[in-house]
Amino acid sequence: MIPPDARTVLDAACGPGWLANRLARDRRVVGLDTDFDALHGLMCATVRGTLARLPFPDRTFDAAICCEALEHLDDALLAPALRELARVAKHYIVLTVPNNEDRTFSRYRCRRCGVHFHSHGHVRSFTADALRDLFQAASAGRVVCRGVKEIVPVAVFRQSRRLYRLRPEPMGFWIAGKGVRCPHCGFAGYGRRWTPLFRAWSLAMKLANGLLHPVPRRRNCWLLGIYELI
Ligand SMILES: [Zn+2]
Repeated sequence: MIPPDARTVLDAACGPGWLANRLARDRRVVGLDTDFDALHGLMCATVRGTLARLPFPDRTFDAAICCEALEHLDDALLAPALRELARVAKHYIVLTVPNNEDRTFSRYRCRRCGVHFHSHGHVRSFTADALRDLFQAASAGRVVCRGVKEIVPVAVFRQSRRLYRLRPEPMGFWIAGKGVRCPHCGFAGYGRRWTPLFRAWSLAMKLANGLLHPVPRRRNCWLLGIYELI
């Protein structure tokens, strides 16, 4: 969905480069991320930096893309990041975010400090309407939305909020090594394996949810917004 005439591309918040590397097969790509270690896996030019302060001159890239990152930005960072994408892009911006995510169902509690947090660090959710108005809301000027698509259909089971609250993770128990870390105190979980007790606890909650909502439904779990600079 990235326009074919976009020959130079910035992958902003590229992570380990699974998208940047693919685009780099036939385009000039720069991958940018705050995480220096993540950039080691990239097979294109890399720059360490943050979304809210992109280290490039105005209109450097035909397209700026930013996938699975905006949902991590709080109010103080989101608008500056959007203005920066609009500044460094010459023709297009392409964004992806989770589709209207209910963040209740990824809420963990830290057993050590008591803070509740999203297991992947998401601090906001987006609707299709919000994505259409995103750049206007951020006063990012000359950006027009050319379309918002729902993408990546996945079979998902409806979840009970009441039952989710009784699962181990929101009660403060999860295993280490899943990449989950308390943003407040750094606690990263227990051990490497569930004890039989925790395994049974987690399974019982999932089975109870399955009895309440046995039929999965297909849902497009991500949104993609394409924007043009005028
Ligand atoms: Zn904590």
